[in-house]
Amino acid sequence: AEIPTAAISRLVTYLRILEQLETQDVSRTSSSDLAERAGVSAFQVRKDLAYFGRFGTRGMGYTVPVLKRELVRVLGLNQTWNVVIVGMGRLGQAIANYPGASDYQFQYAGLFDVSPSIVGQQIRNLTVRHMDDLKAFVAQNTVDMGFLAVPPDRAQDAAQALVDAGVRGILNFAPVVIQPPAENGAQEISDEWRAVIVENVDFLAGMKRLAFYILNPHLKDAPLT
Ligand code: NAD
Repeated sequence: AEIPTAAISRLVTYLRILEQLETQDVSRTSSSDLAERAGVSAFQVRKDLAYFGRFGTRGMGYTVPVLKRELVRVLGLNQTWNVVIVGMGRLGQAIANYPGASDYQFQYAGLFDVSPSIVGQQIRNLTVRHMDDLKAFVAQNTVDMGFLAVPPDRAQDAAQALVDAGVRGILNFAPVVIQPPAENGAQEISDEWRAVIVENVDFLAGMKRLAFYILNPHLKDAPLT
């Protein structure tokens, strides 16, 4: 059965709340406590967790470290994820320099660009490589994800380069819809593209949604998370 994307987003929120509880030395929680902190209903919390198993004891709630460990496992955050960043301009450099990703096992394995002024630069502990070297790099190193931080009109081609190199997960920061190429004008999607997962991060889209909901607050369905 498919699981709503919003449920996975909420799992990430519950995990963040559990991390906060742990730093506050709170050892037990409940679906109603998590619900209040996440701004959703207790029924929603139980339903979201039930997709993946039974993590608490009826009437007893949850043990914070146990539920945290289970969510880390469900989300796959207990394994190493090797990431390449494609496009090392303002955003790519900001991402590479942001320390939060290493809280979990996200590791920047390679940084790529095409600009002669950026290729060869040292950022954190990595030297920015040219896109021409992407395929060979992915062949020789484990790469699980590619972050796309190139200009919008370069994003589709850069995504194609990632897919051609064998990368199957793309976090796209460019405000464009990444699409499988139409093969010979047919509707066929290649096996490579069929296996690709694209997640979009777009703060400009968030600004537009915010503008709409400030003007139409009564049309907002879900509470803030
Ligand atoms: P930038 O111009 O500073 O950097 C883009 C970099 O991509 C440059 O270094 C350029 O040389 C490189 N590049 C160009 N073509 C390439 C290719 N084919 N392969 C590899 N590298 C290539 O731009 P920026 O401000 O860092 O923005 C990058 C992208 O992120 C844009 O699409 C922008 O719209 C988007 N953006 C998204 C958010 C967000 O919240 N999602 C926020 C800001 C910017």
